[in-house]
Amino acid sequence: MAEVSDQTSEAPPARTASRRARSAARRELGRGERVLPGVYRLRLPLPWPGVPHCNAWAVASRGGYVLFDAGMNQPDSLANLERALSMCGITISDIGLIVCTHAHSDHCGQAPVIAELAGCEIWMHPSHELLNSMVEDPDAVFARRLEVARQSGVPAEPLERYAAERKTGETGFAGVIEPARDLLDGVAVSSDLGDWIVYETPGHSPSHVCFFQPERRLLISGDHLLGRISLYFEYGNSPDPVGEFLRSLDVVERLGARLCLPGHGRTFTDVHAHIEGNRKLVGERLQKVSEAIHDSERTAFEIVPHVYGDALSTGNAHWLISKTLAYLTHLEGTGKARRIAGDPERWTS
Ligand SMILES: [Zn+2]
Ligand SMILES: [Zn+2]
Repeated sequence: MAEVSDQTSEAPPARTASRRARSAARRELGRGERVLPGVYRLRLPLPWPGVPHCNAWAVASRGGYVLFDAGMNQPDSLANLERALSMCGITISDIGLIVCTHAHSDHCGQAPVIAELAGCEIWMHPSHELLNSMVEDPDAVFARRLEVARQSGVPAEPLERYAAERKTGETGFAGVIEPARDLLDGVAVSSDLGDWIVYETPGHSPSHVCFFQPERRLLISGDHLLGRISLYFEYGNSPDPVGEFLRSLDVVERLGARLCLPGHGRTFTDVHAHIEGNRKLVGERLQKVSEAIHDSERTAFEIVPHVYGDALSTGNAHWLISKTLAYLTHLEGTGKARRIAGDPERWTS
């Protein structure tokens, strides 16, 4: 059965934990391994505790390789990628195409660097504005994040601490990406194993796609499905991320994948159980949020402990509040929550 934990995964940690993990991550090295003939897992270190690695997948294609995801841009990340590739007998110049599952830094941050070195194209979904605005004006993205937090009822003191802890210039993105081709439903990425068909799977991020190889029933799932079930919804860039995510689970379920190659962690086979596990966890979270606003008016910040216990810290506040707002927005769409305009904004049933 799928392991369930969405409290800390993908959540940047409190500062001390962050430092500890960063030094641990520095000792971590990129590693590569063959998972199937012509398919290699490249395990690349991340500076986030709870999410110590991301995966890129190199798939043989016409004497070279397609790289599915590219890792985060950070010190040593290129050396780690080269190390992982070399363990599989691959060099950067063998890469003929980069395709990205979504526009988060751990999946595409390093793509422009690799594309430049390999002289290849990058393909990704057109909804990747967040990435480019993060690169072009990270201060504006951060300021908006603070404003959402303030509007959601986060008190001034932790907000100031959060602002002070932010390290400028560490976005994880090497630069803007102007994809040579849009990854939309039905686009085929050819490889020696056959074509990988693109399925748009928004929810985790509006830019999210999965790649399915129908003859072998292989699914490159990015962060849509992970071995250790962990939910995250990019809030504010699409109307109803939770609803989109649930519909994307239906899309992937219909594919009947036999083996999942996720964006983090090991491959797994019980794909259907993972889809069910995600649905169940979303249902539980929605229930907890509903209970928190039943006959009371609360800010998103006040709702977080009802859903996540005392997990909230300045390091993960943005992630937990984003998820809570995504649940509230979904409940609002189904008539089960009502937004009370004000400063801060409150919610009720
Ligand atoms: Zn992601
Ligand atoms: Zn990720």
